[in-house]
Amino acid sequence: MNRAVVTGGAGFLGSHLCEALLDRGSAVVCVDNLLTGTHENVARLAGRPGFRFLHRDVTRPLDVPGPVSHVLHFASAASPADYLRLPIQTLDVGSQGTRNALELAERKGARFVLASTSEVYGDPLVHPQPEGYWGNVNPVGPRSVYDEAKRFGEALTAAFRQARGLDTAIVRIFNTYGPRMRPDDGRAIPTFLRQALAGEPLTVTGDGTQTRSICHVSDTVRGIVLLAESGHPGPMNIGSPFEISMADLAAVVIELTGSRSTIRYVERPVDDPGVRRPDTSLARRALGWEPGVPVEKGLLDTLDWFRVELGVAA
Ligand code: NAD
Repeated sequence: MNRAVVTGGAGFLGSHLCEALLDRGSAVVCVDNLLTGTHENVARLAGRPGFRFLHRDVTRPLDVPGPVSHVLHFASAASPADYLRLPIQTLDVGSQGTRNALELAERKGARFVLASTSEVYGDPLVHPQPEGYWGNVNPVGPRSVYDEAKRFGEALTAAFRQARGLDTAIVRIFNTYGPRMRPDDGRAIPTFLRQALAGEPLTVTGDGTQTRSICHVSDTVRGIVLLAESGHPGPMNIGSPFEISMADLAAVVIELTGSRSTIRYVERPVDDPGVRRPDTSLARRALGWEPGVPVEKGLLDTLDWFRVELGVAA
């Protein structure tokens, strides 16, 4: 990879991706409108040779001066709290934003990688989810602004590959956690960590039996980079097979933080998936990838970052 454009590069995943690419010797152009990302996420990259930040909305016509070898399209609100607050922007960035990023890749002769999501499987009727499963998505429910935008993005990416011969890949990312998640972003791990550090009750939705598979950001980013550097088109699941119920996750967070917080059960969001676990045999076979960070180590690493972010002493 010589010079990569990372849209959404000032977000949680995108900023780790920019950093990993710089570490591998690639130049990086981070394109972001800071809708849900922050300057702080990329502040430490600003002085590194080969890094450039462009403040742009990717739903507007997009140009990047100079040669580009890869376009990694990560721009999109990703936390349910964000995309429910920003429904139209989420649909726009998944549709027009994806189109602009694809056309940029086409003009530059670059390989294109779409950050898709396990949410394309909706509330799955097949478990674990292989890439061949088509999903179970409510097209008009509140979550559809995200799920369907990503499904449209996948269809558009497949069409550019088939009809226009663009070199493309689709990565279906499962729940990822780690440093630089916003404490208030509404996803389970930041919410639980924030509540535990404040000594507040941890709010588990429904009866807490719904599961997620959680992957540390360093593992997820390693998989994405391997896919980008391969010639594989995907779609390819990248995520951890480590599946945990939300009630158990809350209990683990209470234990790791040594908090005296209790658990409070609150209403479950509409269309919240009941189970989630990737079948990662394709990533293992095609890329030799599997996650390596044990969940306890990953959560402690995230906890360290939250302590600093929230100014809570260890
Ligand atoms: P995030 O909200 O931290 O990052 C998204 C970034 O995109 C932000 O920096 C935001 O400012 C930027 N952005 C949004 N709209 C934009 C626009 N119109 N123009 C330019 N920039 C824009 O979210 P994240 O968790 O880092 O997710 C990044 C990508 O990975 C998303 O596409 C998401 O769908 C995908 N993904 C993430 C996860 C996960 O667990 N974090 C799982 C599956 C898929």
